[in-house]
Amino acid sequence: MEDRELITDIQKFAVNDGPGFRTNVYLKGCPLRCVWCHNPETILSNPEIYWKRRLCVQCGACLEVCPNDAINPPVDPALSQKEGSPYRKIIRSRCDLCMRCVDACRYDALEIAGKPMTVEEILEEVEKDRPFYENSGGGMTLSGGEPTAHLEFSDNLLSGARDRFIHTCLDTNGFCGWSVMERLISNVDIVLFDLKHLNSEKHRALTGVNNEIILKNLSLLTKVGTEIWVRIPVVPDFSDDIEYHRDVARFLVELPGKIARVDLLPFHNYCQHKYDWLGIDWIYSGVEAVEPAFLEIHAELYREKGLVATVGGSGFETNVMIAGEEAR
Ligand code: SF4
Ligand code: SF4
Repeated sequence: MEDRELITDIQKFAVNDGPGFRTNVYLKGCPLRCVWCHNPETILSNPEIYWKRRLCVQCGACLEVCPNDAINPPVDPALSQKEGSPYRKIIRSRCDLCMRCVDACRYDALEIAGKPMTVEEILEEVEKDRPFYENSGGGMTLSGGEPTAHLEFSDNLLSGARDRFIHTCLDTNGFCGWSVMERLISNVDIVLFDLKHLNSEKHRALTGVNNEIILKNLSLLTKVGTEIWVRIPVVPDFSDDIEYHRDVARFLVELPGKIARVDLLPFHNYCQHKYDWLGIDWIYSGVEAVEPAFLEIHAELYREKGLVATVGGSGFETNVMIAGEEAR
């Protein structure tokens, strides 16, 4: 049987993850545990269940079918749906993911996060957007989760896209052996390389791993010559300090090879609902989003060093800038 991996989403018309219109493929499973993660459903490599409190009418059908006593008894829907309600439908420590409750729910309040798909099935979806790639310079972006943690599958998917002449981006946290990176980039046009923090201790504190292997891979990548867009999440009280970005800009220009551009990605809290659906108490709940306009000051530090820098990572900004340069 052909190999399958869990996919949490195939996002169409994405504009912030490489040039042009992209089809983003999100693999499930990542070796890092970034506490601010904007895609919490991609962290674990097993399927999970979303419980969408606003859709739940507390009918009790899920309770009837659960073999593990992992469903809380119904309460008044007005109480469970109230903002800030501590009520949770699933007792996750007892759940063995049999998914009977998902089948039993007639209100779409329960949903599986992580659908097993083959490379061919994904490429069929990606192919549907080909006309948009051709007009915008777009293509497929393989993201996650972490693609390097799924080497064989990622390699087959990227080479399959290449065989179809589809532009490819690899969105990676860089936490892998160099041989893994080396193999994947042979079928990649642009590497979107996440740089979470230069300080290894701080990196470990908020992602769960040291950064040495990541920085080494970034350095080696620049020597290979693959186009690299460094992506820096700007997280409150972690990576938002202006002096810190001065250091990062210096670090990037001192690498052995060239960085094509730097994208500053402001922390946001639009993902709050996903934490709620997964029954996770997010430590960034209530933390305000970083205002993108505020990061223009940070972006200037990179530009002063001769780097192309964006806030938000739009895949159209480079095109706009090039068009402007041609007009001069
Ligand atoms: S079956 Fe669905 S709507 Fe009914 S209680 Fe369970 S989750 Fe809520
Ligand atoms: S997935 Fe199975 S064990 Fe888990 S809550 Fe649903 S019915 Fe119960």
